[in-house]
Amino acid sequence: MNEITSFCQSFKKKFVPRPQNPRQPVRCWQEKDVLNDAIVDAYVIILRTKGCSWALSSGCTMCGYFNDSMFASISEEDLLAQFDTSIKGYKNQPFVKIFTSGSFLDPTEIPTRVQHHILTTLNNTAEKISVESRPEYVTEKHLQEIEEKIPLQKLEVGIGLETSNDLVREKAINKGFTFQDYLRATKLLQHQKIGVKTYVLLKPPFLTEQESLTDCLSTAKDTADSTDLLSLNPTNIQRHTIVEYLWNRDQYRPPWLWSIIEFLRQSTKLTDAFVKCDVVAGGSIRGAHNCGVCDKKVLHAIQQFSLTQDTEVFEGLSCSCQEQWRDQLHLESLSFGSLVDFSRWKP
Ligand code: SF4
Ligand SMILES: [Zn+2]
Repeated sequence: MNEITSFCQSFKKKFVPRPQNPRQPVRCWQEKDVLNDAIVDAYVIILRTKGCSWALSSGCTMCGYFNDSMFASISEEDLLAQFDTSIKGYKNQPFVKIFTSGSFLDPTEIPTRVQHHILTTLNNTAEKISVESRPEYVTEKHLQEIEEKIPLQKLEVGIGLETSNDLVREKAINKGFTFQDYLRATKLLQHQKIGVKTYVLLKPPFLTEQESLTDCLSTAKDTADSTDLLSLNPTNIQRHTIVEYLWNRDQYRPPWLWSIIEFLRQSTKLTDAFVKCDVVAGGSIRGAHNCGVCDKKVLHAIQQFSLTQDTEVFEGLSCSCQEQWRDQLHLESLSFGSLVDFSRWKP
């Protein structure tokens, strides 16, 4: 096992899961999303599971989803009870997104019988059902079984590729799969006419702001033939992760919102995929942020772009902190490690 893998593992060894109700989902809510070029209401369900199998054995450097996981097996009955509770707030929205903080298609996380029950139930009302999975759980057999329950064209599978660069994925993210693994899975999904969503990570640890921006743009180009949707994930500081460890030592700053805009602007020339960005903890010290003065209007523009693909929403956005961001892009390569986040740095 390499050092980054065992370092990620060490955070889980010390971790004590808080008591949680296995019959209650993490959260459910409604939000806007795009379906067949129209803005529609989407219903989002986060199920509480044992956790991502990869996180339980080691995990990614930025991922703290396991903080919400049970870290122990959950029975089929409990998972079904969670889904029953979730569905109480469902108002027949045409688009349903199911997150598990892991892989919906992993049968050790969501048993096949439960997967099928959820999909069959939603099939009556939903036009599109979005789930997430690591590529190893995307198999022909598995998809054939699902096809017996729902038309596969209704399905969208999101894969956290993060980057098309194997070195960055292995050494900076500790993702545990290769670009080839991703290509194999997306080929299979495309063959079955299943929608593909690809997550790209902005600012993994150990990369400078400029290196990461360049890496994300290369990834947009490299995945252009493999994905229908590209979702940029700006790193936020989640608890009990390597990113938090570095951040506590002033060795990591979450990405600038200006970098997100730069990516969104340029990506439209590199891929025909629909490009979006949901900024988790945006504007806060633990999330992607600017100076604090302009964050709200910049976040609003990112949200608007993510629904419309219209780069004009970025016109007229400016703030004095852009100079600081540009300086970071140019100067960080000369520093040793990530530059300090000056907004939180107290001498
Ligand atoms: S980012 Fe995805 S694959 Fe990595 S540990 Fe988290 S849930 Fe698992
Ligand atoms: Zn600003």
